[in-house]
Amino acid sequence: GGYVLKITASIGIALSPRDGGQADGLMQAGDLALISAKRGGRDQYAVYTPALSERIARRFGIEQGLRRALEKNELEVYMQPLVEAGSAQLRGFECLLRWKRDGQTMISPADFIPVAEEIGLIEPITTWLVGEACKHLASWRRATRRELFLSINLSPRHLLREDLPHMLLGALRNNGLDASALMLELTESGLVGGLELVRERIQQLAISGFQIAVDDFGTGHSTLGMLIELPIDKLKIDQSFVRDRIPHDPEAVKVLDAMLALARELQLHVVVEGVETAEQARFIRTRNPQAMLQGYYFDRPTSAYTWDGLLLDGSLPQYEL
Ligand code: C2E
Ligand code: CA
Ligand code: CA
Repeated sequence: GGYVLKITASIGIALSPRDGGQADGLMQAGDLALISAKRGGRDQYAVYTPALSERIARRFGIEQGLRRALEKNELEVYMQPLVEAGSAQLRGFECLLRWKRDGQTMISPADFIPVAEEIGLIEPITTWLVGEACKHLASWRRATRRELFLSINLSPRHLLREDLPHMLLGALRNNGLDASALMLELTESGLVGGLELVRERIQQLAISGFQIAVDDFGTGHSTLGMLIELPIDKLKIDQSFVRDRIPHDPEAVKVLDAMLALARELQLHVVVEGVETAEQARFIRTRNPQAMLQGYYFDRPTSAYTWDGLLLDGSLPQYEL
């Protein structure tokens, strides 16, 4: 039909008798190695190891549990403050997912988000999270009379969905909020690849009034051109540039200063993650008082219900710098 098709092979390798003396067991080990080769990005081979089958079993377990987590009410929204450096005032929160599996074991989002993305659960989970988060935000805004905002992590594959802006605007409308109440965090790796569709969606989101932030800035394939081309408002400087390194590591100081200068030149706002000490917070404040700070020095991520206890009284957390 005039198309050029590129065909690749993924190969799983198992050895007899090491990985199975009988055909059945050997085939099974080969299949697991094949799954691993495909998950690793295809067009490659993988050799079976017992650790591989443990990993796959663990992943399968996460997958099964996650499919039921929403209906079993096992997910929770945690919120971590974003504090303005100059004034030490609370401005907003980043929403971070938590999964309390079977009501007890806490599973890290770093472990279950990639699975949720792969099995198509990230969309319903994010829809749920945004709905919950907006409900909290609306009540906090009423009680504190502050225009607090929320920052939401969006997975790259979610950007492909045409109904994403509609979903976000719907959740806001249900709670009497508008798009300026949400900042959307996209990772650098989600922005590269030059996908026309992704660009279009970002334009569409910006036109709808959402603030767009590049998350984990500095860790991905840097896309400096993109920062100019796309309607990006904020850079979130990754915690690896700050935590354990600022202010005593001269190289880290140089890199951080360069990133702050870049943001200033491009007129982008900055959020600095991984602020664990007062010294780090003050260090950034002297360089950019408008920067937003996030980190254990101020607060760890805490359940939105815990924040209710403070904010619904009309109080705000007090931070010192
Ligand atoms: P992230 O977006 O980079 O989130 C920041 C992570 O750094 C959070 O980990 C937070 O708890 C941690 N952190 C904050 N301040 C400090 C600090 O001062 N020191 C140290 N050592 N760590 C700090 P968490 O909550 O485990 O989240 C891990 C990742 O999971 C997030 O990284 C994000 O990529 C992903 N994630 C979490 N919630 C969602 C979600 O709703 N949707 C999507 N797509 N991804 C999410
Ligand atoms: Ca984030
Ligand atoms: Ca981050």
